[in-house]
Amino acid sequence: MTSLPIIDQTVGEAPQRRLPRWLKRPMPQPGMAYTSNVIEDLRLETVCESAKCPNRTECWSQQTATFMIAGNVCTRPCGFCSVPRGKTERLEADEPARVAEAARRLGLKYVVLTSVTRDDLPDGGAEHWFRTVTAVREVTGAEVEVLTPDFLGNRNAISRVIEARPDVFNHNTETVPRLYHRVRRNADYQRTLNLLKQVREEAPHMPTKSGLMLGLGETLDELLEVFADLRAVDCDMLTLGQYLQPTPDHLPVERYLPPEEFDHIGELARRLGFRMVASGPFVRSSYHAGEMTHQMDVSVFLSNSPTGMNDSSAKNAASQVSPGSGLLQILPDSAT
Ligand code: SF4
Repeated sequence: MTSLPIIDQTVGEAPQRRLPRWLKRPMPQPGMAYTSNVIEDLRLETVCESAKCPNRTECWSQQTATFMIAGNVCTRPCGFCSVPRGKTERLEADEPARVAEAARRLGLKYVVLTSVTRDDLPDGGAEHWFRTVTAVREVTGAEVEVLTPDFLGNRNAISRVIEARPDVFNHNTETVPRLYHRVRRNADYQRTLNLLKQVREEAPHMPTKSGLMLGLGETLDELLEVFADLRAVDCDMLTLGQYLQPTPDHLPVERYLPPEEFDHIGELARRLGFRMVASGPFVRSSYHAGEMTHQMDVSVFLSNSPTGMNDSSAKNAASQVSPGSGLLQILPDSAT
């Protein structure tokens, strides 16, 4: 096992030099080099690298990555994110084809796409999103999950991404509204809810998903209010993970929540009616995203099935989620 980088943190009164014991990640496995070579060869960006994701050794070893399109420079100064900000790059017309080729070489059946925020473009990059989703599907036949920026609330831009018919539309809330000015400057909480609402209105059967980082100073009551707001716009899936400070220049961690607390908060969210909740220290929006989506389908199947929990194929699919992944099963209690 490897430890994550150790950064001096102050938790309450006492300085904490080491990360909690539960924040350990597996050593790299052979597949990691293959993933790395594919990405380098095709000159692609991944949020795995740009955001210094702690799951990179695990995901890349399993030949899974989340492609970040529209450049590696962001127009927003979010306090939690290590993607570089500044002067943006020109969109590369062949990027959709290169992403599709990478997905093909990696053998991906479920592709997660994200992008930097491109407030400098009139459509926020929506057409580029459309072309990338379409290219990936045409070349690989894979399911595609999009994790988009808010497009400054531009409804036409959001509609264009919906028109690409992604299998899941994900847009992160990131944190509670009280902390937006510090964590997610230039974003707007209501705008995020509006985006998810628009997806529901324009594509009633397209699953929607959102996620928050915990440990930034939010309270449980604030979290529950956000969960309720997300359910009010009929958000289907929720991810909850521990915020980790990517560099000393980024926002400090206010608190490391133990896994049991993630379980508890996830359970509270589940009771509000999300079709699927993933909650754990290492959960990220794209972590085991395919399993999360497929498990959601299983849970719905079970709840709709007259024989329900006796269906062995559904149970098998539900059990494919790896232990410790933080996925909470939304199955009838007696079925687990
Ligand atoms: S969790 Fe997502 S961002 Fe992190 S390494 Fe895995 S695929 Fe990449």
